[in-house]
Amino acid sequence: MGNPLNDTMAGTSSVIAVGTEPIIRAERIEKYYAQPSQNRIQVISATDLLIVPGEILALLGPSGSGKSTMLRMLSGLSKPSAGQVYWHGRPIAESAINVSIVFQSFALFPWLTVLENVEAPLKARGMAADERRERSLRMLDTVGLDGFEAAYPKELSGGMRQRVGFARALVVEPEVLFMDEPFSALDVLTAENLRSELLELWSKKTMPTKAVFLVTHNIEEAVLLADRIIVLGRNPGHIRTDFRVQLSHPRDRKSEPFTQLVDYIYKVLTRPEVAPLAAPDQTTGRTPRDQRQMHYQMLPHARPGGVAGLLELLIDKGGKDDIYRLADDLAFEIDDLLPIVDAAQLLGFLTVYEGDVAITATGTEFANSEILRQKELFRQAALKNILLLRQIRRALETKNDHTVPEEFFLDMLDEQFSSDESLRQVETAVSWGRYAELFDFDAARRRFILPEETEIVAPVEGAE
Ligand code: ADP
Ligand code: MG
Repeated sequence: MGNPLNDTMAGTSSVIAVGTEPIIRAERIEKYYAQPSQNRIQVISATDLLIVPGEILALLGPSGSGKSTMLRMLSGLSKPSAGQVYWHGRPIAESAINVSIVFQSFALFPWLTVLENVEAPLKARGMAADERRERSLRMLDTVGLDGFEAAYPKELSGGMRQRVGFARALVVEPEVLFMDEPFSALDVLTAENLRSELLELWSKKTMPTKAVFLVTHNIEEAVLLADRIIVLGRNPGHIRTDFRVQLSHPRDRKSEPFTQLVDYIYKVLTRPEVAPLAAPDQTTGRTPRDQRQMHYQMLPHARPGGVAGLLELLIDKGGKDDIYRLADDLAFEIDDLLPIVDAAQLLGFLTVYEGDVAITATGTEFANSEILRQKELFRQAALKNILLLRQIRRALETKNDHTVPEEFFLDMLDEQFSSDESLRQVETAVSWGRYAELFDFDAARRRFILPEETEIVAPVEGAE
């Protein structure tokens, strides 16, 4: 990634080392289906999504929410009705892509033997007979099908058939492996075995695959396997939440962090009317700092003044209220209130639980303080909780001239958001940073600046 500060910011590699280039980047993709009689129906609303190397990404969602539709667009099988999918930065339709897909229904050729089924994609790619035979045999061995080369699919159990499905997908050494509910048609034990075997292949790097995209409606399966989980809501399909799973492997289904995460996702899935809640803390199994992907929170587009107003109102109501009643009392549309609630939650000033918002101790102190103290509390909360603000502040402190171009942060944000959204993110960061007196922004030069007189604020080492 080209950034203008490499030379001047040596020694701040944790700020600069952003996640690697995405393999697949979807920008504002949508899908409509034409209806024979009436209007088209929208199945996916404008969605941004990244598939990055080193990650198992699970896409969860209720049936009909558009998971398979997303998979088809991301894997190049179907074209979005609007927006664009990029493969290593180029439109996917114009790229030579290297992906495979494992389907729930196995989708084997019944008239071909196990070996011939696995060889089929290599044959399609024009590989010489000897080489493809050798590679296929090796792959069959890897997935535990040694000795079944000459069998036909109908002679195999479901679990064995799906092993063939995996072998056929992996034999081409795909850069991204897509799977659409690959374990759903199997009995519980077989599914569990195959999951652990897949995880073993992945973690031992037996397969050269760089990223896995798993569609599932099974919450535990997602928490068991994924490094990152995206939950889709329906009508039309949209991302409700997107978070990292930081539990170390092997994951214990009975452990507290595991069950908490399952509960959380269950709530997100079953209470579509409630704002996405923050994922619970997963204290165990953190990856070392330099291996962690930077992952920006999406800053809600709310003003600090709005956050202050909401907290003061909550204090009047005894510190807790139902989010809908609150919107009603304020004569706010719920959609207008949610960004403010999200912002306050992100800053640690309130918590949201099953539709109730409750003010925290810091939130209470904030609401009861005069303006200067409020700014100080906001500043501390922002540095502790918000990666982008922490990065801007730290970059400004590190640079000799205490200024950094906006473009530098846009570059990093663009890795994760659409370019419009990146601009909005910077805009919000500017409004929050100014309020907290963390930095200023020179709109004419498009540069962040550290006002001369500001003292260095202490708590920069915050939680991620
Ligand atoms: P999921 O995989 O999450 O169950 P799908 O992506 O299969 O969901 O489908 C999402 C929605 O799109 C469903 O309501 C489905 O009926 C609709 N849909 C899928 N394919 C088509 C199609 N070819 N024509 C019309 N509607 C479709
Ligand atoms: Mg599906």
